[in-house]
Amino acid sequence: FQTATAMQHTIAAIATARSPYKQKFGIARQPGLVPAAEVCIELQPEFNADSVRGLADFEYLWISFIFHDAVSEGWSPLVRPPRLGGRQKMGVFATRSPHRPNHLGLSLLKLERIETGKTVKLYCSGADLLDGTPIVDIKPYIPFVEAKPEAASGFVSGKPQELAVIWANGIGADLPANERALIAQSIAQDPRPAYQDIPERVYVMNISAYEVKFQIQNDTATVIAVEYAD
Ligand code: SAM
Repeated sequence: FQTATAMQHTIAAIATARSPYKQKFGIARQPGLVPAAEVCIELQPEFNADSVRGLADFEYLWISFIFHDAVSEGWSPLVRPPRLGGRQKMGVFATRSPHRPNHLGLSLLKLERIETGKTVKLYCSGADLLDGTPIVDIKPYIPFVEAKPEAASGFVSGKPQELAVIWANGIGADLPANERALIAQSIAQDPRPAYQDIPERVYVMNISAYEVKFQIQNDTATVIAVEYAD
């Protein structure tokens, strides 16, 4: 956006997220909805073990990042949240849309473990991040300050309804359990664009090392193919 009077600030990524989500379609819409979605947050070389001293004792982290794959799409003062079925518009600042002026995102991820080798790596689960997402800050989550479970939350009331996921003809039976969980939990979030209810349509999702095909009828998704995509 162009605001001649606005102060300009420059920020650089301190880390990059390595995520199983290789494309936007199928990414969880919020953190925690797909617990099996694990990302590795790789810090830039200038941030060594000192920069994460004490962090391993926290269970959740706030990850500030740039919606880098939405920057070229610009922003809009009104957006259509998927939670409203794409039928209603809301002010961008009343939503978590990627199409916001500074394209800054904020996700609360569960810290699973930290590796402090040559590169510091934070493994976090429940991610809603695209592979390659630039991370601009990391902070510990402090429940007594930040947890407000009774707070009003506007048009976002509770967890979205999940789809049942079935695997056709034993498909996916040979996948590692974590990959199978990642695929099933991601599809259960119903990644279809708002309005779409076309039972014969085949959806294709690139996730982890796989190309996954599925169809959705009523409240059930059926996985019809999983192919190794190198
Ligand atoms: N929890 C974050 C927040 O509230 O700022 C993100 C919420 S946003 C609704 C989540 C969606 O952003 C994902 O489902 C995916 O479609 C999209 N997304 C994730 N990482 C992205 C990236 N690096 N660039 C563009 N879009 C991204």
